[in-house]
Amino acid sequence: MMTAMPDSLPEDYTLLSAHSWADIDLSAVQHNFRRARELAPASRTCAVVKANAYGHGAPRIATALQEVMRPDDLFAVVTLREALSLRQYIADRPILLMRGPLDANEMATVLQQGFYWVLHSDWQLGLLQQAWQKGLRPAGGKLHVWLKTNTGMSRLGMPMPEVPTIWQQIRDLDAGAELVLMSHLACADDMEESLTPRQLQNFKTLAQDLGLTDGHHCTLAASAGILNWPQTHFGIVRPGIMLYGASPMIGREGPDEGLQPVMNLKSRLIAVNQVKAGDTVGYGATFTAPQDMQIGVIGIGYGDGYPRHAPTGTPVVIHARDQAWDATLAGRVSMDMLTVDLTGIPALAGDEVLLWGQAWGASLPADRIARLCHTIAYELFCQITARVEYRYR
Ligand SMILES: *Cc1c(COP(=O)(O)O)cnc(C)c1O
Repeated sequence: MMTAMPDSLPEDYTLLSAHSWADIDLSAVQHNFRRARELAPASRTCAVVKANAYGHGAPRIATALQEVMRPDDLFAVVTLREALSLRQYIADRPILLMRGPLDANEMATVLQQGFYWVLHSDWQLGLLQQAWQKGLRPAGGKLHVWLKTNTGMSRLGMPMPEVPTIWQQIRDLDAGAELVLMSHLACADDMEESLTPRQLQNFKTLAQDLGLTDGHHCTLAASAGILNWPQTHFGIVRPGIMLYGASPMIGREGPDEGLQPVMNLKSRLIAVNQVKAGDTVGYGATFTAPQDMQIGVIGIGYGDGYPRHAPTGTPVVIHARDQAWDATLAGRVSMDMLTVDLTGIPALAGDEVLLWGQAWGASLPADRIARLCHTIAYELFCQITARVEYRYR
């Protein structure tokens, strides 16, 4: 726990033990999950908790999600290590490996553990056939394979014309296999983009060819599809970023979508300094004080995962005298700290600062910081480092 700072600290007092923390609101992740379900009520929900739940801590996030999931909802991760780790917290629910097993050993483990997996390349069918010949069978008795096809993104996925044959070859091994047709949208974050309707059309055509007329065993939509393209929902949706309260849509922020921030990234002012007109602040001397002013130093930097590319002018919220004050970065972010313009703010060393999220009645969506850094909230969340303490509530 943090100790409260006395009110009467000298203005240049530096806290020796200042650190940064990510305050994680588990009720917000549950709210966001319900929001995804409300938007796609007829679909099963496959909650994406890859990359340590987008930097939020997969064990606690998955446990909180599990409380609000339906019996047939599932989790998705990318690597086998992530799946094995998640299995320690999630005993019964299916876990999908979105990249599938990558070699014979992984295939053996995937079958042994009964993980669901994505088959995106024909060589993975070879791995499955070899395992089958060795007598390996899936735990639970039934194969669960999601066949990923390329409908226009041209990243992972088999060419559409190859899918019917592979589909049949899996059925030949295991007549009772539960097969799902999967694809991924490249531009669903942009409502003007014509690739999405084309991908949807390709996907529907293939689903028809496979006899999947009710769309039950089809999955296309991630968060952007869930939020904005209802025609892409089909039987299973795969929300990721929206669960963490950020928007996947260009120019929009989590609160615009009815989402709540899950990560509230906080730190403290560790020094408040006076600078004179003409003085420069920070590495590269990129900021010059236009007049005598107060500069606050906050104990967070890119060594904690705060983006180094955040420019002068990027907002933060300072909690001083029981009020939330808007302040902005002045000068470059360094590894362990950053500097802000405190003009007109009665802040003292020890005061708490919000870098993104919400606190003290103020809201500062991670999407906004990301846009100023020419990136997306996904990356900001994933970049939080081990130096940051996680506090769950
Ligand atoms: C990461 C991922 C998702 C989730 O995407 P969001 O944009 O975060 O909702 C869904 N499907 C696949 C295949 C993914 O890799």
